[in-house]
Amino acid sequence: MPLDLSFTGRSVLLTRIGTDTISTIHALLHDGATVTVESAEPPTSVRDLADRGLIELCAEAEHTAYDVVMRGATATPPRAGIGAGEVVLVGGGPSDPGLLTLQGLDAIRAADVVVHDRLAPLAALSHARADAEIIDVGKIPRGEFTPQERINAILLEHARRGRIVVRLKGGDGFVFGRGGEEAQACRDAGIPVTVVPGISSSIAAPALAGIPVTHRDLVQGFSVVSGHVPPGDPRSTVEWGALARSGTTLVVLMGVATLAAITAELMAQGLAADTPAAVVADAGMASMRTVRATLDTIAETAAHERIGAPAVAVIGAVAALDVLA
Ligand code: SAH
Repeated sequence: MPLDLSFTGRSVLLTRIGTDTISTIHALLHDGATVTVESAEPPTSVRDLADRGLIELCAEAEHTAYDVVMRGATATPPRAGIGAGEVVLVGGGPSDPGLLTLQGLDAIRAADVVVHDRLAPLAALSHARADAEIIDVGKIPRGEFTPQERINAILLEHARRGRIVVRLKGGDGFVFGRGGEEAQACRDAGIPVTVVPGISSSIAAPALAGIPVTHRDLVQGFSVVSGHVPPGDPRSTVEWGALARSGTTLVVLMGVATLAAITAELMAQGLAADTPAAVVADAGMASMRTVRATLDTIAETAAHERIGAPAVAVIGAVAALDVLA
C-alpha cells in the first residue's frame, strides 16, 4: 500500500526482507532516507547495495536507534520536488507514451497546468487531472513575442499563481529542446524548477529501427548534431570536416530538408560515399518508417520515399544493421 509519508533525512530500519524489499529500499533512498537492513542472510541484490555503500547491513539492529522501523512493509515515499508554484520540465520521449518515464508520468498526474509541444507524447495527457489546464504552445503564432519568450512567460505566469506547471516536450528537453532556456528563465524569476530527463529521439529513433548508435565491433561513440542549418550557412557552427573524420556514428536531428547538403559536405570532407546511412521518421508512432541507403544516395532515397519531419538521420557503419530483424 503506498504511504504518503516523507522519509527525507530519516534513518529507516527495514526488517523481514520480502520480494519487494529492493523497490522499497530504492524508494526510500530516492526520498533521502538513510537505510539499514536487518538480515543475517541478505539476498545478493541487497548485499550489492551495501557493497556500493548505499545502505547499511546488520545481522541484528537496535530498533530504538532508528526514526522509522519498517517490518516487511512496502512504502512508496512521495517524489521529492513537487510543491506549490513550480515548473517541472519533462522530457516525454519520442511520441510513444510508453517511453515516458515514471517521474514524467507522476508530474503529469500532479500538474495543474500542462504546457506541451507538438512532438510531445500527447497520449500521456490522458493521465492529467480532469481539471488540469492543457496549453498547446505548438500553436503559438509569432506576434508581439517570439514564441520562446511567450512560452517562458506562460510558464512563469502560471507558476506565480502557485500552480504546478509541467512543461512537456518530445524526447529530452535539454537536447535541442530549449529546456535550458526555460530553466534559466524560471531561475531568473525565482521560480523553483526541476527537470525530468527524457529519452531523446537521437538514441530512441535509431534504436526502434534496430540501429544501435554504438556497437562494440564497429564504433566507439556517436555524435549528435542539428542539421537545421546546412553546412556553409553563416549560422552553422558545426565542423562537418571534424565529424567526417571523427570515427563516430553521426546522428542528425532536424536534418530532413538539409540532408543533401550535409551528405555532400561529409563526402567532400573525406567520408566514404559507401558509408551506410539511414533515416528514421515518426519513431514511436504507428506511422514510423525507416529508409536505408549509403551516404551518397540517402538524401535522394529519403526524398523519393517522401520521408518528412520528424526524422533522424544516422550515418556510419551501424546504419547498415537491423539487430531486431
Ligand atoms: N528534444 C528532442 C529533439 C527536438 S528537435 C529529442 O531529444 O528527441 C526536433 C527533432 O527531433 C526532429 O526534427 C527530429 O529530428 C527529431 N525527432 C523528434 N521526435 C522524433 C520522432 N518521433 N521520430 C524521429 N525523429 C524525431
